Amino acid sequence: MTIAASSQPSSLPISISGVTKKYGAVAALSDVGLQIKSGEFMTLLGPSGSGKTTLLMVLAGFIRPDYGSVRFGEEEVILKAPHLRGVGMMFQNYALFPHMSVEANIGYPLKIRGESRNSISAKVAEVLETVQLAGFGRRRISELSGGQRQRIALARAIVFKPKILLMDEPLSALDKNLRELMQIELRAMHERLGMTTVLVTHDQREALTMSDRIAVLRDGRVVQVDTSEDLYAAPNSEFVAAFMGESAFLPVEHRGGELYFSGKKLITESVAEPDAPRHLVVIRPEKLEFVQAGERGRYNCFEGTVERMLFQGDTCLGHVRLTSGDLVPVRRGLRESAKSTLPRVGDHVVLGLHPSETRIVTGG
Ligand code: ADP
Ligand code: MG
Repeated sequence: MTIAASSQPSSLPISISGVTKKYGAVAALSDVGLQIKSGEFMTLLGPSGSGKTTLLMVLAGFIRPDYGSVRFGEEEVILKAPHLRGVGMMFQNYALFPHMSVEANIGYPLKIRGESRNSISAKVAEVLETVQLAGFGRRRISELSGGQRQRIALARAIVFKPKILLMDEPLSALDKNLRELMQIELRAMHERLGMTTVLVTHDQREALTMSDRIAVLRDGRVVQVDTSEDLYAAPNSEFVAAFMGESAFLPVEHRGGELYFSGKKLITESVAEPDAPRHLVVIRPEKLEFVQAGERGRYNCFEGTVERMLFQGDTCLGHVRLTSGDLVPVRRGLRESAKSTLPRVGDHVVLGLHPSETRIVTGG
């Protein structure tokens, strides 16, 4: 029995190690290491200037780092030209040719690879189905909506069945509704086609929605790599916690292996790092509860006065000034606690944070 060509893997793992890139005194990337599994959807998340685009360009081959190694599967690609790397790319500024038809745009990567007209037509028709624009081949790009253009750009990136797909902020030009729709579609497409995918975004919600794992970048370094759930629930630093969503941080004192806030011992599964200069308890607004007198023993409790209570449709957001002087946000769904049972501005309240939700991070 012969092995069919289709038994070739549809994806490859990516191994990045020791990648460093300096621009004068600025280190765009410092000793970056990251292992991306075959078929994984990995997101590079970080604020502007953290090195996301530089890292993606290193993978694509448009930037050669000063040091380091990038392997696709077993192969070292650091010296390989971009067009020989076989990666699909969808960049924000990777514009379509507006005067050309949809078919000509999508077929372009196949044309430069020397494929026949018939083969190109067949593949373009197939990929148009994948991006749910079957029958759009003859349209001009200028006749399409923003979302349709985005799908065409995606079709062009995947038409030659790359084993690796790289996307840099591909949805940032779309409005919110369309962006959220495209996030779901991109994720579904990834599940169907299975190529290893690296997405760059500065939008934490987009990262949480789409990724198998997220690598958080800060100042050219990878500071945490985890699944969406773990990154949100167990950030390893104040930076990651703050970046991953609405949060407040309360300073915690570290004495004899125990952690205290405002003189009261905290019950937590987190362990303090003895050498860290500062410890903080991470407060996610949706994890706080208004606690009645009889329930205090089950929680880490924080007393204070309600300063603000904002109705926001599906939830209410309160701001509570603790007796310590710290201000903490608390968010309650309106389904479980009808609006009338929530405390009012000026009320004295006790906020409870369950020990299993009490996360300590180091500040810096
Ligand atoms: P991000 O995509 O996360 O916003 P970049 O990778 O574009 O970040 O940039 C990382 C850092 O490297 C930034 O400080 C940026 O100013 C710097 N940088 C990027 N490209 C160049 C360049 N061609 N010349 C000089 N500095 C650059
Ligand atoms: Mg960028």
